[in-house]
Amino acid sequence: MFISISKILNGYEGKVSIRGWLHNKRSLGGMLFLIVRDGTGFVQCVLKRDVISENIIREVDKLNIESVLEIHGVSRADKRAPGGYEILVENIKILHRAEDGFPIAKKYHGPSFLLDNRHLWIRSRRMFMILKVRAKIIEAARDWFRDNEFIEFHAPTFTSTACEGGATLFSVNYFGKTVYLTQSWQLYAEAGIASLGKIYTIAPSFRAEKSRTRRHLTEYWHLEAEVPFCDFECLLKIEEQLIAYILHKVAEDLHDTLKLLGRNPEDLLRIKPPFPRITYDKAIEILKEDGVQINWGDDLTWITEKKLALKFATPFFVTHFPRRTKAFYHKTDPIRPEVTLSADLLAPEGYGEIIGSGQRIDDVNELVQRINENNLNPTDYYWYIDLRRWGAIPHSGFGLGIERTVMWVCKLKHIRDSIAFPRFINRVYP
Ligand code: ATP
Ligand code: MG
Repeated sequence: MFISISKILNGYEGKVSIRGWLHNKRSLGGMLFLIVRDGTGFVQCVLKRDVISENIIREVDKLNIESVLEIHGVSRADKRAPGGYEILVENIKILHRAEDGFPIAKKYHGPSFLLDNRHLWIRSRRMFMILKVRAKIIEAARDWFRDNEFIEFHAPTFTSTACEGGATLFSVNYFGKTVYLTQSWQLYAEAGIASLGKIYTIAPSFRAEKSRTRRHLTEYWHLEAEVPFCDFECLLKIEEQLIAYILHKVAEDLHDTLKLLGRNPEDLLRIKPPFPRITYDKAIEILKEDGVQINWGDDLTWITEKKLALKFATPFFVTHFPRRTKAFYHKTDPIRPEVTLSADLLAPEGYGEIIGSGQRIDDVNELVQRINENNLNPTDYYWYIDLRRWGAIPHSGFGLGIERTVMWVCKLKHIRDSIAFPRFINRVYP
């Protein structure tokens, strides 16, 4: 029976068998130290002359890293070992001998080299840790949704109409007809709530982002939720609770991993609802005071968001964006029709937008008017308009970028490392 390395690192002492990849090795004073990884962790294994034959030690010493081993021995606590435990090896079997010339060496490699070798680079300790945090964020979100009676609901990836605007649509030849890759699950979700109530999804969204930034992918994972009988105030509360839950869960379950990534878990544990709120008007005022050339009505860009987000140590909402900066389905503020009941959640420390959200239009006439105002064709949206004819209710929803969240939680400088195989304008391989 094989045991996972994580169980050993969590304190299992005694006879063990593991199997995994040879991550690293070094010899010292006649002993051979191996670092072996199995997907659950990295553990040090020691080969000593008085325990195992000289021939075997010599044979293992000749192996290249990334060879695959089966190791039998005794695990025990050892303060000197990375992770606090090591295995004294009694027997070892070589399952695969890796070839010479593993491209990734213990030296600096540039980002483009690492992207070319992404299939191998994801084995690095750093990518292992980031991908674990990513998985934990998604796991925590699912837990929160389940505990709060949200049902998972799926929408198609091929769509006929734009959700977030035409400029970033990817078109696909669909048997001679042009269709698009989805930018958001939202429009279908608004149909879903009349069947299932509170719903969510975690699925890829596609944006033909032509500008190169450190925070835009062309394919990203989008966590979206749609909530019936929920106004703007209710929406912001849901976002705060979900985010706080995710951050606390990651900080508790992956405390040491976060530290190794350079993120103090206390930064995340400190974050509690309610989050600060500023209006879009206020945001423009702050930016102007900082000498930024920006006018009321301009959308916030990643550069201006960064300026704002450097002023905060917790996530904060920017609310009530002008009508013209937001997609057609946003409900206008009844008190001030030139702005919408919309809110972006910005991550602190300069990270910027991680959530876009708002209350949706629930009146059929208002919706048709807004579709026309945006030069869209109401017949393209007939089914979406129908939702306001039969069973219209106040409802709201949001979309969170998984990679943006990973980037902030792991303190990454660039979005590329928040996903195993990133897609950019000039990168679709491997
Ligand atoms: P931005 O202004 O930052 O480009 P957006 O306002 O176009 O984003 P929304 O349509 O509000 O984005 O999408 C909801 C969320 O999806 C965003 O808050 C962000 O976290 C994420 N997101 C949007 N576009 C991308 C992208 N190209 N790459 C990664 N994440 C994205
Ligand atoms: Mg947005």
